[in-house]
Amino acid sequence: MICPICGHTKLNTTYEDKSFRVLYGPPIVIRLRVDTCPACNESGDFENENDRPIQQALEISALKSVPFMVAILKEDHQCAPVYIERVTGLQFGSITRCEAGHYDAAVIIALRMACAYPPILALLDNAESR
Ligand SMILES: [Zn+2]
Repeated sequence: MICPICGHTKLNTTYEDKSFRVLYGPPIVIRLRVDTCPACNESGDFENENDRPIQQALEISALKSVPFMVAILKEDHQCAPVYIERVTGLQFGSITRCEAGHYDAAVIIALRMACAYPPILALLDNAESR
């Protein structure tokens, strides 16, 4: 491994814990690699080893946000998953599947929008029945 700035070859590698989360999701702590050049002080993830674990942490946080968002919509806004699926055009059962751990970006985005602005569900419902 060489420094991308000055070409020095004896770099120091350390690890630090950092947490990542998505909207309505819990923070997920992962260990990130930090390479530091003793010659020019440049530091970073010179081998791009952190991209994948960061992506995985964001996915885990997103999956864990699903039951939380479903509970908010059910308990605070009386919107059951089947209603949300119908008005947003999601496939029937897709919210339950996502809650069970099957990652589905469309479900996560729909739930996120509904939690951020719950009246959108009634607006979609009214627009549909017009
Ligand atoms: Zn350097």
